[in-house]
Formats: sequence, structure tokens, C-alpha cells
Amino acid sequence: MKNVITKFGGSSLADAGQIKKAVDIVLSSEDRRYIVVSAFGKRNAEDEKMTDLFIDYYNTKDDIEKNEAIKNIIIDRYEEAVKELSIDYDVKSELEEIFSLSAKMNTVDYTASRGEYLSAKIISSYLKAEFLDMQKIIIFNDNKKLDYELTYKNIKEAIESIEERKGKIRIVMPGFYGSFRDGKIVTFSRGGSDITGSLIARALNSDIYENWTDVSGVMFVDPRIAKEAKPIEYITYSELRELSYMGASVLHEETVYPVSKVGIPIHIMNTNNPKDAGTMIVSSIPSIAKRKAVTGIAGKKGFSSILLQKALMNEEIGYLAKLLNIFDKEGISVEHCPTGIDTISIVLRSEFLDGKKEKIVDEIKKTLNPDILSIEEGISLIAVVGEGMSHHKELLMKIFEILAKENIQVKMIDQGSSGINVIIGISDNDFEKGLKALSLLQYEE
Ligand code: ADP
Ligand code: ASP
Ligand code: MG
Repeated sequence: MKNVITKFGGSSLADAGQIKKAVDIVLSSEDRRYIVVSAFGKRNAEDEKMTDLFIDYYNTKDDIEKNEAIKNIIIDRYEEAVKELSIDYDVKSELEEIFSLSAKMNTVDYTASRGEYLSAKIISSYLKAEFLDMQKIIIFNDNKKLDYELTYKNIKEAIESIEERKGKIRIVMPGFYGSFRDGKIVTFSRGGSDITGSLIARALNSDIYENWTDVSGVMFVDPRIAKEAKPIEYITYSELRELSYMGASVLHEETVYPVSKVGIPIHIMNTNNPKDAGTMIVSSIPSIAKRKAVTGIAGKKGFSSILLQKALMNEEIGYLAKLLNIFDKEGISVEHCPTGIDTISIVLRSEFLDGKKEKIVDEIKKTLNPDILSIEEGISLIAVVGEGMSHHKELLMKIFEILAKENIQVKMIDQGSSGINVIIGISDNDFEKGLKALSLLQYEE
């Protein structure tokens, strides 16, 4: 028997109909005994995710009317699902308790976590499986950083203890949250149920981590922008990490870390089309797979570039260090730093400059005395990612050619030192057009 982690995202659990599909997938293999669930997602484009409803509920504490309206939407959605699944679970009483506890909390985390908690309660009841709360199992340090070793140990012990008492039964676990050592709930950042699945896979040394969602794998480019994007058959952990960091939101960017260390593959699959092959995320691409020049592309809007120019800059020792130190002191992380002989650009998220721009400009002028200092906002970064890229000599030319054809000006280019990505800066106004055009790279051999 294989040891499989089966995680369903919110889109796979949006209502009773979706839950039934997910449960059919679980029941179709005896190997699928460890199930991780997200909160109910959107049923359609206009709908709200359950997690957003819970967060809105917490944030409207002082507006009785709004607060009551959100509460009723939440209750109705859960009552409808429980009724349609015909399970014996008094979800209304559970919700009343949640709402009254929420009012006493001074952070949003407890309330935000309840979507996953209720999903796991409902699905374990429907599956007649064991419910295992992750609250006191996934442990965060006081600085909100995960204590990985303690978490792995806790997961292993909790599951072994259930299996000793009850045998190899199915266990349903809520994603997205754990707690500080004192038991106070902490959530991951949004989309974090993916991380829970990865932690459990690592703790149990699983054969595979299946991540079920609403697309048939990681697509070459965000399918909301380029409909013609095709699923990637195999992708390495490093490539996936680059893509998810740069905006491919199909998997939380921190998911890869626990499983990549021990080489557990992640299989992304579609709950609505379970027969599709999906994407395998692995440490190295098997030799039978056809390697393309580019594995995938992803991008984000909202960056700024600060350009410094100074004659004979290259002769001034420590110039770059002094510049980076200014950002360091302000607690700002710098995304890229392309340099020329007499120029340096600092590329960073625009929001980091909010309220600090003048101070930083003054500090740069005072410390570094550049001949020219200019700031350009509204820049998008696009990452072209692939381990096969270094063998493709004309790839950069091809990228420029595609963008030039669309009349898109390249403002920056940075070839990452890992050799698996090229970052291109273009205007925010050209972002969608640029990504769409670059999706042509999927056909490049
Ligand atoms: P889940 O509810 O399963 O957690 P998410 O919404 O978190 O699902 O992730 C799936 C979504 O990620 C897709 O519906 C798609 O809109 C988006 N997405 C962004 N980039 C990509 C990509 N490169 N490939 C596939 N999906 C992507
Ligand atoms: N429910 C959480 C969110 O909406 C976590 C997750 O879905 O992964 O962000
Ligand atoms: Mg997700």
C-alpha cells in the first residue's frame, strides 16, 4: 500500500457537489488515507471564498448590521452543504460557538482558520473518517516562523497514535493553520493549505503528495491570462519555486521546501477532470520526458526601479554595498539589482516605497552623490524559467523579438545566477499583452 497525501483546495470543495467529487477521488484508491482540506472556495466568479467571509466577519465586529449579514451568509452556506450531504452534524451550534469566541479574539487568525476546521469536520463526517485537528500539531515560534522539526515530530506521533488505536483508517486534516506553543491559533499566509499538505507528506515520508485543484496542472503561463497555455508535464522543485514566487499562484510558494529536501513528488491534478495527467513536480526531470527550452513563465505587476548613474562608479569601492545598506536599514527587501559600469538599478516592490520615498532619495543623495537619480514606477516583472534555457543560445533574442513585435519596450533584463531564469521588466500597461505574447515560448524546442 502506498502512502499518499491527498490535498483538496477550496475550488475543489466549494459546495456539496464539489465535495462529492473530491470524496469519490479519495474512495477510488485505498492508498488515499491522509486527506488535507481547504476552506470552501468560490462556487463561481462572483462568489466569495469562505476564508474571506470569516475574515470580513472578524473585521466588521463594530458594525452590527454588516456583521450579522455576513454571519447569515456563512450559516446558510454551511447548512446547505450539510443538508445536501445528509450528514449528522450540528453545524449551526458549532458556528454559534465560533462566532462568540471570535468576538473575544484580538487577532484575526482564529476566525480565519475556521473555514478549514469546518471543511475537515464536514468531510470527515461524510467519509466516516477520523478528524485530526492541526492546531496543536503545526507549531510556530514566537516570531511566527514555523518550527519544522517539532511539527514533523508532532504529525508523526499524532497519526501513529490514531493508527495504533484504530488501524489504517482515513484521516481528514484541516490545512492553513497551527498554533504557537501556548495553543493560540496562527494561520499561514493566504493559500497556505498547500504548505500543510507538504508538511504532512514530509513527516510521514509519503510516496507522493497529490494536490487537487481546478486546473489540470501547472500551465505554461497563468491560464487566466493566456487561455492557450498548456499544462507542464514535469517541472523541477526549483523551477516551480521560481514560477510560484513570480506569481504562478497555483501552489503556495513555500509548499516545495519540506518535500523537496527528501524528494517527495507533488502531483497537481484537476478535481473536475481527474483523468487528466496533471503536472509532476520532481527533483529532476526523468529522461523519458521531452525537455523544452522554457518550462514556464509567470509575472507580477507593481514594481519600481531606482536608477543611479555616476561617472567612474566602477572605481568607487563599496558603492553597491552602501546603496544596499540604505534599503536594509529601512527593512526593505530588494528584488533585483542589475548593474552597468557606471549605473546601478534597484528594483523593488512599489509598496515598499510608500511613505519612505523622500527619505530614501535624500539618503542616497547624501551618501552616494549620484550624477543622476531617477525613479520609475509601474514596472512589471516577468520570469522566463527553465533548466533547459542555458542550452538555447538564441532564447534571449527570441524573447526580445516576441516583445518587439508587440511594440513592448524592455526596461530591464536580469539573468538570474541560478541559470534557470531570466527576469524581464516591462511597463505595467504591457503586462497582460507581454505574458500572452511570451506564451509562444512554450513551443520552443
Ligand atoms: P485551490 O482552490 O485548489 O487552492 P488556487 O486558486 O489556489 O486553487 O490555484 C489554482 C488557480 O491558480 C488556477 O485556477 C489559476 O487561476 C491560478 N494559476 C495561476 N497561475 C497558474 C499556472 N501557471 N498554472 C495553473 N494555474 C495557475
Ligand atoms: N483558505 C485559505 C485561503 O483562502 C487557505 C487555502 O485555501 O489554501 O487562503
Ligand atoms: Mg490554493
